[in-house]
Amino acid sequence: MTRPPFDPPTADDIATVSRQLGRPARGVLGIAARCVCGRPTVVATSPRLPDGSPFPTLYYLSHPAATAALSTLEATGVMAELATELEGGIAAAYVAAHEQYIADRDSIEVVDELAGVSAGGMPARVKCLHALAAHSLAAGPGVNPIGDRALERADWSPAVCACV
Ligand SMILES: [Zn+2]
Repeated sequence: MTRPPFDPPTADDIATVSRQLGRPARGVLGIAARCVCGRPTVVATSPRLPDGSPFPTLYYLSHPAATAALSTLEATGVMAELATELEGGIAAAYVAAHEQYIADRDSIEVVDELAGVSAGGMPARVKCLHALAAHSLAAGPGVNPIGDRALERADWSPAVCACV
């Protein structure tokens, strides 16, 4: 599978992402997923930031309503539940998601320090629903099984604008 395409960021995108994050956006290569209204939800970030530091999280969830909804979900104990689901037959798909994540990132730049590292706890653990959901939003459904499940349960959807 090839990397999902993403639009290069406009000046408006960068301004919006900076406002969403509450700090200047760094290393933005493009917008990997958008709200139905067009505002960014997932930022594609350079594997090496402008200051030279490696950055594993190619797909970074920037949308405040989405990050809040996933934080709420993480606080409900769903992480343990999803980890249990991982033992029940989606483990191979999760490993494939991990490999796809790294392939996507390597297609932009191979950073030695990040060898074998993806995000969110992949390939065997569930550590950050924000990173996993961001992967699902960027790649579309059917790539990251845990990210897909997190989005199904979160009280937020890219199809309903919750931008402020
Ligand atoms: Zn919106």
